[in-house]
Order: sequence, then C-alpha cells, then structure tokens
Amino acid sequence: MTDPLPLVVNDLHKHFGELEVLKGVSLEAKKGDVISMIGSSGSGKSTFLRCINLLEMPTSGEIIVHGKPIGFKVNRRGQRVPENMRQVEAMRARLSMVFQGFNLWSHMTILENIIEAPIQVLGMNKAEALEKAKHYLQKVGIYERRDYYPAQMSGGQQQRAAIARALAMEPEVMLFDEPTSALDPELVGEVLKVMRSLAEEGRTMVVVTHEMAFAKDVSSQVVFLHKGIIEECGSPDKVFNNPSSERMKIFLAPKY
Ligand code: ADP
Ligand code: MG
Repeated sequence: MTDPLPLVVNDLHKHFGELEVLKGVSLEAKKGDVISMIGSSGSGKSTFLRCINLLEMPTSGEIIVHGKPIGFKVNRRGQRVPENMRQVEAMRARLSMVFQGFNLWSHMTILENIIEAPIQVLGMNKAEALEKAKHYLQKVGIYERRDYYPAQMSGGQQQRAAIARALAMEPEVMLFDEPTSALDPELVGEVLKVMRSLAEEGRTMVVVTHEMAFAKDVSSQVVFLHKGIIEECGSPDKVFNNPSSERMKIFLAPKY
C-alpha cells in the first residue's frame, strides 16, 4: 500500500464576516514536496496556513492530513467547529508552524522551548526530548546557545531555534509563514540556509515567502495567490519563466 499524502486541501473558503479572504484554495503536497506560496500582502497566504492547522476555522472545504480528513460539525450557535478536539491535537502535532515573529516563549530558555511540546503534547520522556533537542539544535547550528533566553539572541538565531522547535515534533509537514521577513537583511541567509537543508533532506514543507530566489531554487511547486484565489501554480520554471496569468506577470515585473 502506498503512503497517504502528507497534506491535501480541497476547495478551502474562509470568510471574516462579509469579507471572503479565501475563495476556494486547493493544494496537494506529496512527501518531500516544497511548496512555496507567493503573492501580495493581503492575498490570504497567512490565513490559508492558519486554516490548515485550524488556528482559524475554515468556513468550508476539506483538510486531509496523512489520509485523515478533519471532521467538522455545526454547533448550537450555528458555527462550524471541529468534530473532535483530540483529532485536532493529533493533526496539529503532525503539522508544525514557524511564524514570522518566531513566537518563542520568552520566559523559557531555548532548550526549554524545544522540549516543551514533545513532552506535553507527544508524551515523550524528558531524556528523549533532550536528546532530540540536542540533535536539532546542532542541526540549526545553535546548540551552544541552548541555555540562552530568546531575548539574548539575534533574530536569525531565534528563528533557527523556532525551526528546531518545530523539527522536534517530527512533523509530517512544516508550515512556514514568512520566516525571514522580520529579520535584518544580513540574517536572512542563515535561516534560508537551514530551510534549504531541510528541503534537501526530503522534508515536506509549505513556505509562504517573499524570497523569490528561494522559491525558484528550492521549491517543487510554486503557488501564486491573488485575492484569495490561486492565479498560477506549477513548477518554479513554469511559474517564473512562463506564467500564463496576467496577475503573475505584473507581480513579477520589476517594481522600479
Ligand atoms: P497575507 O498573509 O497574504 O498578507 P492575510 O491572510 O494576512 O494575507 O490577510 C488576508 C485578508 O484577510 C486581509 O484583508 C486581512 O485584513 C484579512 N484578515 C486576516 N485575518 C483577519 C481576521 N482575524 N479578521 C478579519 N480580517 C482578517
Ligand atoms: Mg501574511
């Protein structure tokens, strides 16, 4: 039997009141895919990632993680909610998100940040969680900073710690929401380098990014979102060198 796909999203819609931010977005990630999502600010990229792991509740549409569709029901107030919170927790453990603003816990050291979820969510014992943390901190190159607090580190180091924290959950898919946009330009490279190495070892990733060179070189698929609709998608070569959508051509045109 073949393994189920890590992530399938079908016809996802999201309204905020009257505003329809996502108008039917679908996506399919095979194992080892790196899907870059690009598009102007406000096009719905963050909302899409947040809907995938249910930080926002999708208005309609299907999310299937490792072959398991997330169940929804309508509650007494007429709101769409997950059918089963256990399932949501299990699903979230399979999808790790890395945010623009790192979102490390400021009152915990880097090491404590990393072992927290494996112990609390996965029920791992502390020795095993520490072993894993060590492995991933070495991988992102900040093991010697393990006893620092986030505020004592540069933005690039904090973001690499956040990536190590996501990796420690051994996720099926890693979701990145503009992981380098909050960084000073000279720190962007160190984070992209880590992400590139993750891609090269075959991790499945969905990456919202403004780094076009990364999207071109590292992705297996590129998705261009415009006003909540996928205007263009396909291989990086097709999307960047031979786009069919006028919007994509405008997006790629030099701005000055
Ligand atoms: P992007 O990440 O592509 O810049 P977002 O997904 O953040 O875009 O936002 C898409 C649109 O949804 C924007 O118009 C934004 O103002 C709106 N939006 C996002 N989150 C909310 C929210 N919680 N409530 C109302 N509107 C929202
Ligand atoms: Mg965003």
